[in-house]
Amino acid sequence: MKSVKIENLDWVTYKELTESGKSRIILPIGAIEQHGPHMSLNPDVLIPSHIGEQVAARGDNMLVAPPISYGYKSQVKSGGGNFFPGTTCVSASSLEHYVFDVLQAYVNHGNREFILINGHFENSMCLCEAADKLVNKCKSEGIGVKIYLLSYWDFISEATISKVFPDGFTGWAVEHGGVLETSIMLKLHPELVDMAKAVDVEPATFPPYDVFPPDPSWVAPSGTLSSPLKATAEKGELILEECISGILSHLN
Ligand code: ZN
Ligand code: MN
Repeated sequence: MKSVKIENLDWVTYKELTESGKSRIILPIGAIEQHGPHMSLNPDVLIPSHIGEQVAARGDNMLVAPPISYGYKSQVKSGGGNFFPGTTCVSASSLEHYVFDVLQAYVNHGNREFILINGHFENSMCLCEAADKLVNKCKSEGIGVKIYLLSYWDFISEATISKVFPDGFTGWAVEHGGVLETSIMLKLHPELVDMAKAVDVEPATFPPYDVFPPDPSWVAPSGTLSSPLKATAEKGELILEECISGILSHLN
């Protein structure tokens, strides 16, 4: 595989590959967040990083930037909540400014097009804000910058959903630590998953509001919002292939 990770390049090669804005820069953004007792804290970082590397390797003139690992605060109804040990998050303004600064640095090198691959639901609007502000700032300076923003799960088709969830799909919101992420991690990093510790839970149901401070009793003690028990590496491979090829077909 050709080398697509910016962090592994020397500066001269990086300069050659990015001269006159000829490469698109993929930036994965994740979170450090509990995903149940059966899995490491980093699926939200590792999954978009892998997808980004594959997209860059198979696509034309793309490079992957080192991921942003810390994400916006885990919310009870999408990530289990910000109170679990190990869940280590930053505020919306910190994430927005950090992403803005990283993108600005790449713009300063001459890069003009970016693909942000989000792996943590809660990050979404912070990334919108960073992208919107950067594009507007650059525009006022006469610099044309284009930023694509996507969350990888939006590339999963109904056909794949029915294969991965033959018993019925309860929605992406409760997939935190469930079949989706566990299957992908079994494919990518089986050493970071221990299915012997996986806890069977019913898909979470929540009231139609949030409450602050968050109420830990809304979440199963294991921390996942649905059961990971039916996860398999084969399902993970199917999902990954669809996300990678889908992103390429839209953005290559
Ligand atoms: Zn996750
Ligand atoms: Mn998450």
